[in-house]
Amino acid sequence: MTWTCDLIEARLSDYLEGLLQEPERAAFEAHANSCADCAPLVASVRGLVGEMHAMEELEAPPRLVYSILDKTLGPRETVTGWQGFLNAIRGLATPKFAYGAASVMTTLIIILGASGFSFRKSKLADLRPAAIYQSADRGVHRASAAEQVVRKMRRVFVRIEEKAQRRKRRVRVYCEAWPNPRISSPPWVAELVGICGGTLVVPAGEKLTERQVAAADPEVIILAWAATGSKADPAQAYNVAGWKDVTAIQNRRVHVIRDELLNTPGPPLAEGVRELWRLLHPPNRNEHKT
Ligand SMILES: [Zn+2]
Repeated sequence: MTWTCDLIEARLSDYLEGLLQEPERAAFEAHANSCADCAPLVASVRGLVGEMHAMEELEAPPRLVYSILDKTLGPRETVTGWQGFLNAIRGLATPKFAYGAASVMTTLIIILGASGFSFRKSKLADLRPAAIYQSADRGVHRASAAEQVVRKMRRVFVRIEEKAQRRKRRVRVYCEAWPNPRISSPPWVAELVGICGGTLVVPAGEKLTERQVAAADPEVIILAWAATGSKADPAQAYNVAGWKDVTAIQNRRVHVIRDELLNTPGPPLAEGVRELWRLLHPPNRNEHKT
């Protein structure tokens, strides 16, 4: 078997996790070490994965979520309304959830954002070194390490964007951050879809009706329900009566991406964008077929 650049990319996660068996591993390294495109990519992703594992898991202070709700929603009686919602999320999330605190925070940001609260909408443009330096000034990160992470992430994005630009047609995509009410994924996910050669066919980070989604007729539906890990349920989408004629439903192209890979606006996005690329452009699918 010839190891092409595409195959290297497809098997990169397996390689870094030590899942390749001996002849494959050697072949992978033979290509990766001698290819001017793949060598920096493998180094970037290896570095990012290492840094993600090195991050400390944070436990959210018990009152944090309620303090945020107090500050944003005000009166106590509203908070009790949110209690049920938060309990529902806890029920769905596994107790020992790697990005637990970040994920719950992101959920709140997405849901409150969609309800019209004026959270600043994060964008990939926030990955400017200048912005990182500002947070470094506040003592949050060491500047050099943070800038390295940003550089590696950009390399992954650029590589995928270059591949996407060779595609003739943009893929129509709906990404969902929450199923009830339906909320589309946040703005930075729309940007990731764009990098992968797709178009988010609904407004990002907004509450939507099922009719709106049906009218937009996505070819691919990605579920990344906030704070649920990979527990989003494609069957739920396949069973929506009003979506029967949607192209993604007809072609059985509803997929799940672990929510923190899309919903955490930081290093996990490098893994998220590769996953997104893989699902939007499956290798066995004929590009020219419509
Ligand atoms: Zn290569």
